[in-house]
Amino acid sequence: MKEPLLIYEKSRPGRKGYTLPATGKSEREIIAHIPAKFLRIDDASLPEVSEGEVLRHFIGMSVKNHHIDSGFYPLGSCTMKYNPKVNEVAAALPGFSGHHPLAPEHTASGTLRLMWDLSADLSEVSGFSSVSLQPAAGAQGEFAGLLMMRAYHLAKEQSRHKIIIPDSAHGTNPASVTSIGYTAVQVKSNEKGILDADVVAAVMDEDTAGIMLTNPNTLGIFETNIKEIIELVHSKGGLVYMDGANLNAHMGIVRPGDVGFDIMHFNLHKTFSTPHGGGGPGVGAVGVTSELEPFLPSPVLEKDADGKLFFDYDRPNSIGRLHSFYGNFANFVRAYVYIRMLGGEGLLRVSENAVINANYIKEQLRDDYDLPYDVPCMHECVLSGSRQKKNGVKTLDISKRLLDFGIHPPTNYFPLIVPEALMIEPTETESKETMDRFITVMKQIAREAIENPEVVTSAPTRTPVRRLDEVSAARNLDVNYQG
Ligand SMILES: *Cc1c(COP(=O)(O)O)cnc(C)c1O
Repeated sequence: MKEPLLIYEKSRPGRKGYTLPATGKSEREIIAHIPAKFLRIDDASLPEVSEGEVLRHFIGMSVKNHHIDSGFYPLGSCTMKYNPKVNEVAAALPGFSGHHPLAPEHTASGTLRLMWDLSADLSEVSGFSSVSLQPAAGAQGEFAGLLMMRAYHLAKEQSRHKIIIPDSAHGTNPASVTSIGYTAVQVKSNEKGILDADVVAAVMDEDTAGIMLTNPNTLGIFETNIKEIIELVHSKGGLVYMDGANLNAHMGIVRPGDVGFDIMHFNLHKTFSTPHGGGGPGVGAVGVTSELEPFLPSPVLEKDADGKLFFDYDRPNSIGRLHSFYGNFANFVRAYVYIRMLGGEGLLRVSENAVINANYIKEQLRDDYDLPYDVPCMHECVLSGSRQKKNGVKTLDISKRLLDFGIHPPTNYFPLIVPEALMIEPTETESKETMDRFITVMKQIAREAIENPEVVTSAPTRTPVRRLDEVSAARNLDVNYQG
């Protein structure tokens, strides 16, 4: 017999999984306190199940899902590294988790101190003089950075409105540009997968507000011409934005602020090990040079003459507020603990190992899959399934087959400039054994694509559900149970 999937199907009248404390009052006495308009007419339609069944239901659902604590998750550009559990312990400390966001500032000295220290640590890692923790996602960090860029030009009484973006940029970049009312001007990367200064020179003019560079770019390649590009954009009065969501390759090695970037967002929910995915809370902290400080989101955390921290709301040039209260505070705690546990040396080792791991996978798989850009990569590598496609096995099929081995697929069909792209980011937290198993499985799939393609094209067969209509699942999501 098939086990019912929905908790409503497990419901039996009269079963219950809770015990409420005795009140010493009858139901009628309690109801008398509730205004008539709030009283229910019909009983709520809730599942009636025992505590044990509730537990089995939710534990059962959690193991049907793939997550970083259940298996390898090399989803490129997403940095699915292991999130240390000590971060959770710290975020749950009652002094943090129990602090009411509306409590007066003078009762919040510990929380403010943590925010101050975290911003300072991020400044140290990135080379930017100020860091705002307000943005709740990388995309909102971009939005904030671009608003500051616009405010900077407007303060100079210049109404520039174009932003240069390479074809290897992350998709959120042009979207953010459009959302602030600027126009994205796309430029092509060269055959080595990076941007040449002369293609930037050809479009950079006095109407261009600046350029947005993802570095390492979405091919996982370091933009080696950045100094030249930055000088060029600056010479025409523009600003240079770095998409630093993938700072995992840089820490302790290069500081974008020192290189000459003006603005950058971090994804604390990638590099700094706070859980992410499924639309959970993130932090897209944004760093700027001292020249752009007046435009930071308000309020700005400041220190008074006695060394006391306070929120400064008197920011006439600020782009305004981006998040209620303190921001996604629990994630600040997680990122802070992560940084403090590792220290500067530890962060350097993170980046070194992230880069070594990605190069290891690239070198091990180069004979089995196409390698469109044969250069050393940073924290991720991009392979192509073009060879397999000739046998009727698409990249999507390869990814579905990986599920049969309990491995989350790499990012598919992105970056757009690589046909049948497989974007693989192992991260530094995976062991050589885990990567070797992935490599063995990928080699097996490459063999299957030649010898027995149906095995791949009909996968997965070992997962709780087989192939889904992914478009309907995303566009017509129905999570309501009509009992
Ligand atoms: C993940 C990512 C983003 C967007 O971050 P969100 O938090 O998902 O909004 C932007 N740029 C790059 C390069 C990324 O990898």
